[in-house]
Amino acid sequence: MEIYENYSLKGLNTFGIDARARRILFLRGSTLDEPFRFMYDVEELLKSDFRKAPYMVIGEGSNIVFTKDYEGSLIKIGEAVFHGGSDERYKYLTVGARMLTDEVVRISVGYKYYGMENLSAIPGNIGAAVVQNVGAYGVEIKDLVDTVDAIDLVSGDRRTFSNEECAFGYRTSIFKQQPGRWLIWRVKLRFNTTFTPNLGYKALSDELQRRGIADPTQQQMRDIVTEVRWSKLPRPEEYGSAGSFFKNPVVDEATYLRLKAEHPDMPDAHPLDANHLTLNTYKLSAGWLIDRAGWKGKTLGRAGVWPKQALVLYNTGSCTGAEVVALAKAIQKDVRRQFGVTLEPEAIIV
Ligand SMILES: Cc1cc2nc3c(=O)[nH]c(=O)nc-3n(C[C@H](O)[C@H](O)[C@H](O)COP(=O)(O)OP(=O)(O)OC[C@H]3O[C@@H](n4cnc5c(N)ncnc54)[C@H](O)[C@@H]3O)c2cc1C
Repeated sequence: MEIYENYSLKGLNTFGIDARARRILFLRGSTLDEPFRFMYDVEELLKSDFRKAPYMVIGEGSNIVFTKDYEGSLIKIGEAVFHGGSDERYKYLTVGARMLTDEVVRISVGYKYYGMENLSAIPGNIGAAVVQNVGAYGVEIKDLVDTVDAIDLVSGDRRTFSNEECAFGYRTSIFKQQPGRWLIWRVKLRFNTTFTPNLGYKALSDELQRRGIADPTQQQMRDIVTEVRWSKLPRPEEYGSAGSFFKNPVVDEATYLRLKAEHPDMPDAHPLDANHLTLNTYKLSAGWLIDRAGWKGKTLGRAGVWPKQALVLYNTGSCTGAEVVALAKAIQKDVRRQFGVTLEPEAIIV
């Protein structure tokens, strides 16, 4: 294990916030092709005194906002490789948790393993994708997860979680609900053997139409998703951000009907439980609420609301985490006052 003190995090979070960590612990060894070295470092970590101060696992830092220096230990795992496999129903990829999610999509497209292409170009690694249950254009990582291998940082035990045991929900999982407990080191994903493009999102079908493609291939879907995404989001090399800063709020039917009556131009929402097994709830567009509250394109201090997508807060240059949080709070206050709806951050505020 490599240990560094007073470590700059500027290059370790996509917001580009200039905070420092009191300590950072790098676990060496790829989690798949050097498992002994990796597990040796895990043992060393578990025997160390890291639990005496705050600690957290960090991936690529694309969903974390540091509001001040981190007065504890950050844990970062080593590089990752993948293994393939199949049975009569599915194709499988087993990947080390540090592999970038987009790299996993690229490999799946190369192998013609189907179902992940709509998650193209999401920053961050696959271990964190499981923690957050990342999603885009009608697909969530939970649709692909077969098993997840994790180390219990409290007891030191190793455990394999089935998909059901991961308790996935909207941008959440058991790993997010038990912060500080699990270090994910390996993820097994299952893929379809036949290709059906997922065209539920209008932006994708519009782009296909614009290109004159009636029957897209998997590679074409990946290309289109990548292009449509980056046309709306700040390029990380130009402006720091954490992608969508807020979750789309889920409200009860009475609230949805009230808002729709007051704002007929609000985008339609569909009941989340189409089978009506539970009380109907509706997912609203947080981007629309923020836009209507007048925040799209505005800045507060050096933090701003992205002009092309109001759900994204960004760093206009050298902004601090405290400035991002101040902007987020101002938006939350206005949206609550105007619509009676509470916006919850999707990004992790540290
Ligand atoms: C431009 C941009 C676009 C984005 N678009 C999307 C999108 O479309 N959909 C979406 O869902 N998200 C999106 N995101 C958010 C982000 O990409 C995801 O949440 C991603 O999965 C975070 O990965 P990371 O490696 O950067 O994790 P980090 O931000 O480093 O960590 C996120 C959380 O995971 C935990 N964690 C990380 N690795 C591990 C591990 N191995 N074991 C246990 N816990 C771990 C951390 O402790 C933290 O709680 C976007 C972000 C950006 C910057």
